[in-house]
Amino acid sequence: MKIIILGAPGAGKGTVAKLLCGLDGSIQISTGDILRAAVRAGTELGKKAKGFMDRGDLVPDTLIMDIMEARLQEPDCEKGFILDGFPRTINQAEELKDLCKKLNIKLDFVVNLEVPRDVILDRLTTRRTCSNPECQEIYNIKSNPPTADGKCKKCGSAVIQRDDETEEAIVYRLETYNEKTAPLIGFYENEGLLKKFASISSKETVEEIKKSLKS
Ligand code: AMP
Repeated sequence: MKIIILGAPGAGKGTVAKLLCGLDGSIQISTGDILRAAVRAGTELGKKAKGFMDRGDLVPDTLIMDIMEARLQEPDCEKGFILDGFPRTINQAEELKDLCKKLNIKLDFVVNLEVPRDVILDRLTTRRTCSNPECQEIYNIKSNPPTADGKCKKCGSAVIQRDDETEEAIVYRLETYNEKTAPLIGFYENEGLLKKFASISSKETVEEIKKSLKS
């Protein structure tokens, strides 16, 4: 499958993308994961991106498009991909459209995950992530806590709150989403590619997406 997953931070894009990958071997491409890995590795890209990310701002489109142009040409994308967290601006969506034409890629559709704001705020402020870059297991202090001493159940590393998941950064990320990313819903509606899904439970959402892929 070749799909884009849109949704506010905390809408469950990553979780839904992971579940979808298991269906047919398509790969998940998360620009957020790529950028976090670059920050950890201290690369030039990481150094340029870090300040934007810590503030909850979007990283400039040119950096993102360079990453994606290279990534979409890697051999593992041939089977299919699920774009999680990209595109994030109208400009990125337009450039992606041109890139798809150039690389002869046809998208199946664009999924919009619709989640009420109070659910999103609650999810993000209670989300914790395993600090081990190889693991990055996601926890939730209410519904899926780590061990009693705050360690990852999979690998034993410390489970932490991401720098961009403090309450202040989250409110700012949601404002950025409303201003810069929400307009993509109209963009893909016009392209005839948009499908909307209420995303309360990721598993149910995946079942609905599966049905859409068949039809
Ligand atoms: P995410 O994990 O998708 O929420 O991304 C974390 C952060 O990485 C965002 O708050 C942005 O600073 C940056 N980021 C990820 N994807 C993009 C993108 N497509 N365009 C601009 N910035 C991005």
